[in-house]
Amino acid sequence: MTPVLEASGLTKRYGHRTALADCDLSVPAGRVIGLVGANGAGKSTLLHLACGLTAPTSGTIRVLGAAPAAGPAHLARVGFVAQGAPLYAELSVADHLKLGAKLNPRWDPDLARRRLARLDLDPRQRAGRLSGGQRAQLALAVAAAKRPDLLIFDEPAAALDPLARHAFLDHLMESVRELGAAAILSSHTLPDVARVCDYLIVLAGSRIQLAGEVTELLATHARITGDPTAL
Ligand code: ATP
Repeated sequence: MTPVLEASGLTKRYGHRTALADCDLSVPAGRVIGLVGANGAGKSTLLHLACGLTAPTSGTIRVLGAAPAAGPAHLARVGFVAQGAPLYAELSVADHLKLGAKLNPRWDPDLARRRLARLDLDPRQRAGRLSGGQRAQLALAVAAAKRPDLLIFDEPAAALDPLARHAFLDHLMESVRELGAAAILSSHTLPDVARVCDYLIVLAGSRIQLAGEVTELLATHARITGDPTAL
């Protein structure tokens, strides 16, 4: 099975600023990855590299077995939702689906309709009038209806209250299972993503501090501390 994400010596600099330094990764197929780190740790940079929205300064990255290229073929395989779930404020919920159908060759109208029905959103509502939770859910419905092999969300839960965060993560996992896709979710804090991720990458100071299967990390934690309870 093709790994979700592979990186070797992956480095990204913006002028003199190093956003990501010398990252090595090999994440097996089908994982839901939690990418955790503080402000400025390099999370968005890693996600943008994975989407082909920016190129490495040095080193390599492969996503689903291919080098990301800024183009429709790669973006069709990767459903990327940028930080803040950007939508078109003046367009309605229904307009977002029409636009998605026009722009995406793999668009699945039934899946989009099913997801929206679960959300109880008024199709005529303008996106600018939706709550943060509803915006995140609409962005998820649009991203999932592209039938990507990998869903990438940059801090989807950051602005949501605990209830909306829970609902969003439940819907996200429904989509992941329905699509048989892998996923990457970034967050400032571990608890935001711990409930759903099965692989963890912790970034600090532009470097990977920790990466591994959650089950293995928990086993290591239990071995070191003698405490068998979950983190
Ligand atoms: P946040 O949680 O605040 O979104 P992050 O972990 O996503 O942070 P990045 O946005 O990847 O972090 O930023 C990593 C570093 O790279 C920061 O110091 C940031 O200022 C810098 N950086 C990111 N993008 C650019 C850019 N386009 N030009 C210059 N510097 C940048």
